[in-house]
Amino acid sequence: MRDLSGHPELCAINTATLGFQAPIEDVIEAVARAGFGGIAPWRREMEGRDVPAIAKRIRAAGLNVTGYCRSTYIPAADHASFLTNIGANKRAIDDAATLGAYSFVMVVGGLPAGSKNIASARQQMAEGTAILLEYGKSVGVRIALEPLHPVYAADRSCLALLSEALDLCDTIEGSTANPWLGVCADVYHVWWDPNLKRDIARAGTAKRIFGFHVCDWLVPTRDVLNDRGMMGDGVIDVPAIRFEIDAAGYGGLIEVEIFSPENWWKKPMIEVLRVVQERLGSAS
Ligand code: ZN
Repeated sequence: MRDLSGHPELCAINTATLGFQAPIEDVIEAVARAGFGGIAPWRREMEGRDVPAIAKRIRAAGLNVTGYCRSTYIPAADHASFLTNIGANKRAIDDAATLGAYSFVMVVGGLPAGSKNIASARQQMAEGTAILLEYGKSVGVRIALEPLHPVYAADRSCLALLSEALDLCDTIEGSTANPWLGVCADVYHVWWDPNLKRDIARAGTAKRIFGFHVCDWLVPTRDVLNDRGMMGDGVIDVPAIRFEIDAAGYGGLIEVEIFSPENWWKKPMIEVLRVVQERLGSAS
């Protein structure tokens, strides 16, 4: 397994970890100065901005873009809204191409407002993913499905399991030596899965591991969305999962993604980046 101790260049910072407290230009500079190898920006940081100029700045700072976060939820109450969601995702994929992102990260969405039909949500997810895969291929952007912990099934992601995501990849793309559709494994969402080891190996064999996110699950967790922990502060055996990810052949950057408005987001970026570096060595 790769030793991350003293090797921030093997790691990337998801900008959400720094709480969106500064303009993207300052975040790029702070992440690069701390020695990290990559960055994963969010659409909220690009909206209304000169995306090519930001892309140039990221390249000039020597950073890779691991993933571009994230998709507009796909399932909708009617077909017109479904198409609107697809259109929004195509525009985001264009920006991912401009940014040179390794992949476009898809959080697929849950039930549309008023719906109790999760089967329909899953059907729309599959249909939408197939469309976006073709679009991504046409502009050179891989599509990374990120399954979310089932606690979000209603409002954020009807896709919960790594195995479901891999089944979907196989159904949509078939087996291929050079896949454009893959998965993003986030320890926060998959650590509890009894089949995790098996499914990481399966993803690796299929060359479908497009991203790997780390943080920790705190006990107690005060808020399942916004109380994520720094690696080492919770119950996830992050090094054990990373061992499986590395063994499966993943050679990409280890991305740190921590949603924590009540704690880490209140700290100066430079301090958060320092602690991340320490924990990547000791707890990742
Ligand atoms: Zn994630």
